[in-house]
Amino acid sequence: MTHRCSECGALFDDPQGCWQAFGALLEREFVDAAYGRVHHLTVTTYMLQHPTRLSRRGWLEMRELLRLHLRDGISVAGWRSRVRSGGVNSAKGWKIKPDGTCLNAAVGWPWPITVASIALEDPEVYGEQIQAWAASTLHEAEQIPAE
Ligand SMILES: [Zn+2]
Repeated sequence: MTHRCSECGALFDDPQGCWQAFGALLEREFVDAAYGRVHHLTVTTYMLQHPTRLSRRGWLEMRELLRLHLRDGISVAGWRSRVRSGGVNSAKGWKIKPDGTCLNAAVGWPWPITVASIALEDPEVYGEQIQAWAASTLHEAEQIPAE
């Protein structure tokens, strides 16, 4: 039986298929630096497509970070320091993880590219696929109203 992920819409044979596919990408990225180069994009893109795994503010912040990185060329190091100074792990009154708020408008958005289209066959191709997935996701995410 085919299962459709209720958040990103990707199709899998297993109800846990989407999360497992994401896990397989992360596993490869951790053991092989040639894959790990795009780790920041993989995580941000997957999370944007799975809004219930974030707080509403976390989703908006992730979108902003992806925009800064892809459009304005903010480095990964600059990005990380922005995440830290944004108060993700401090007491600034919000957190990136689910907190009862959620950007519901993003749940089930018809994303043209999902984790299901990413192949782990070659690190060069993988990097290009992740870049295309991130760019496509940012383009779509910018059309999702914040309210
Ligand atoms: Zn999904």
